[in-house]
Amino acid sequence: MSNTLTDMRHLRFLLYEVMKIEEKLKYPYFADHSRETFDMTLEAARQLAEEVFWPTYQQVDHEGAKFDGEKVTVPKPLHDIWKHCREGGWFAPDVPYEKGGSQIPMTLLAACVFLFNCGDTSASMLVFGAGGTGRLIESCAGEALIKRFVPKLYSGDWGGTMALTEPDAGTSLGDLKATATPLDEEGCYAIKGVKRFISSGDHDVAENIIHPVLARIVGAPAGIKGLSLFIVPKYRVDENGQVGEFNNVTAAGIEHKMGLKGQPTVTLNFGEKGECRGYLIGEPNKGLKYMFQLLNHARVFTGIQAIAGASVAYQCALQYAKERLQGRHVTNLDPTSPQVPIIEFSDVRRMLLEQKAFIEGMLSLILYCASLDDDVLQMDDEKEKDRLYQIVELLTPCCKAYGSDGSFRSITNAMQCFGGAGYCEEYPVAQIMRDNKVFSIYEGANGIQAMDLLGRKVPTGGGTSVRFLMKAMGKDIAAAGEMETLKPIADKVQEVQNEVIAAIMHLSQIGLSGEIEKYISNASPFLEMFSQMVLAWQLLRQATVAQQALDNGSQETDFYTAKIETARFYANTVGPHAIAIAKTLMSGESTALDFKPEWF
Ligand SMILES: Cc1cc2nc3c(=O)[nH]c(=O)nc-3n(C[C@H](O)[C@H](O)[C@H](O)COP(=O)(O)OP(=O)(O)OC[C@H]3O[C@@H](n4cnc5c(N)ncnc54)[C@H](O)[C@@H]3O)c2cc1C
Repeated sequence: MSNTLTDMRHLRFLLYEVMKIEEKLKYPYFADHSRETFDMTLEAARQLAEEVFWPTYQQVDHEGAKFDGEKVTVPKPLHDIWKHCREGGWFAPDVPYEKGGSQIPMTLLAACVFLFNCGDTSASMLVFGAGGTGRLIESCAGEALIKRFVPKLYSGDWGGTMALTEPDAGTSLGDLKATATPLDEEGCYAIKGVKRFISSGDHDVAENIIHPVLARIVGAPAGIKGLSLFIVPKYRVDENGQVGEFNNVTAAGIEHKMGLKGQPTVTLNFGEKGECRGYLIGEPNKGLKYMFQLLNHARVFTGIQAIAGASVAYQCALQYAKERLQGRHVTNLDPTSPQVPIIEFSDVRRMLLEQKAFIEGMLSLILYCASLDDDVLQMDDEKEKDRLYQIVELLTPCCKAYGSDGSFRSITNAMQCFGGAGYCEEYPVAQIMRDNKVFSIYEGANGIQAMDLLGRKVPTGGGTSVRFLMKAMGKDIAAAGEMETLKPIADKVQEVQNEVIAAIMHLSQIGLSGEIEKYISNASPFLEMFSQMVLAWQLLRQATVAQQALDNGSQETDFYTAKIETARFYANTVGPHAIAIAKTLMSGESTALDFKPEWF
């Protein structure tokens, strides 16, 4: 197995040179931090990922989560990882000191989560699920419930989940059937129903598990407008946070998945064998709105999970391509001459470069969103806050959907670099591919993400968020265009942007004319085109920083030149794809929409 999970020089380049994370130190919340503490945090995460998570990545897959008809258990290494993360304070390092956190910026947290996911995603989901549940409760519950449930989620004493899906309601959350009947205790309800596919839904790692559950209060309206959010603990918890009797949340089974086998994906019965108590969070019937606060965050994190797998697969492929000797250059006709490493062949370099460009562009996009999140959370200027928030909202489906689809494609490229060896489980790429597929499915399948982008985010406020994004891009394109070496790349990115804008104008007319089905039928290719434009821009930003470093006399000429050439490669090879999609969208193509189900 490879020892290097990711290119740390590149991660530091993104954090310090492109995102300029040190500028976050101007906010009082980060006053105790410095470049030194950022470096230390990043290094601690790298060490944990490489020395604790990664060495057991394959073992966790082989052993898998188990269900004996009653209890769910997870492989031993996940217990050790949990312990390490607890000792290191990794469950919620961004939250305030008084809540047990270290007040680190979201940008740095995103980078650390990326590293842990490079090490093992099954394990990362277990750990970071708890912090996510805590944040959700904190964002919408009252003081008493926060005090009762949150501290032990942040400390790593308890695990956390997110329980939406039911056997007959996945994408269509409005059809959820779980019910909540008021009990004598104020704000307390008897929960009844079945939830399926619940990540970290049951396990033997933590003392208790806290489930945020979407259910319908008896008599509430049908559809999403009747859904409320409840905190449902596996074991009851008193007002002081002490764990008490079993709360009748029972595991009915675990899924036998193609990947993420160490991660317990559980079917849970609530209240099947006795009273199951749940506590209403926030107002009744606003459950989905609250849940979406966590989901939006979770979607960017799904992009991180996906890109982490792609990054490790790329590192493995790169190492293999440098070591694997096979054949000779096409111009060398001497069969007795030594064989050359496959990286000598331009087609192998093409495959590596496609991975490198996608990974570097996508990771940059994710850190960019996290960086804007930091500003939104910390700044006082409401107008600027709103502008940045709208950009993050617009880019979230790209992080999730293009991040996961693109990562899977990138991993197929990594496997291809290995030839037959990649198809075998001896190397980690096969497992990474199996683990990675789910990221395009969960947290809202990618088709739904595309509909969210084109159907909701793009038209919001008459297209304000698109205008904000295009303006930010325009500034960076103009700056790059001032540099002689970057001008051809900037021109190409500009061309892509122009075509995307034209496609948006064209589709808007369709939407405004009331042809909603036709408008939305273009959602997936639209998301692909839009994301390709965004990645071309992110790579151009990196190239600009790289050119400035070279102009300032940096000695790291290979590193910075590679950034410029990567941006060029992406603009020249993926840019035309985005333009072709834009032209197709404007051509009125609608075969899939018109193709009748009976014609299949
Ligand atoms: C490993 C794993 C972990 C998971 N973890 C959790 C978890 O922790 N908590 C949780 O609540 N859920 C979890 N899920 C469930 C996951 O979120 C759902 O699987 C997902 O939302 C899709 O729902 P579904 O499987 O019912 O598919 P369906 O809703 O049946 O969708 C099938 C396909 O049809 C498409 N489709 C459906 N409706 C539409 C529509 N209206 N328009 C266009 N296309 C549509 C979808 O895009 C998809 O491609 C997990 C799933 C897996 C596999």
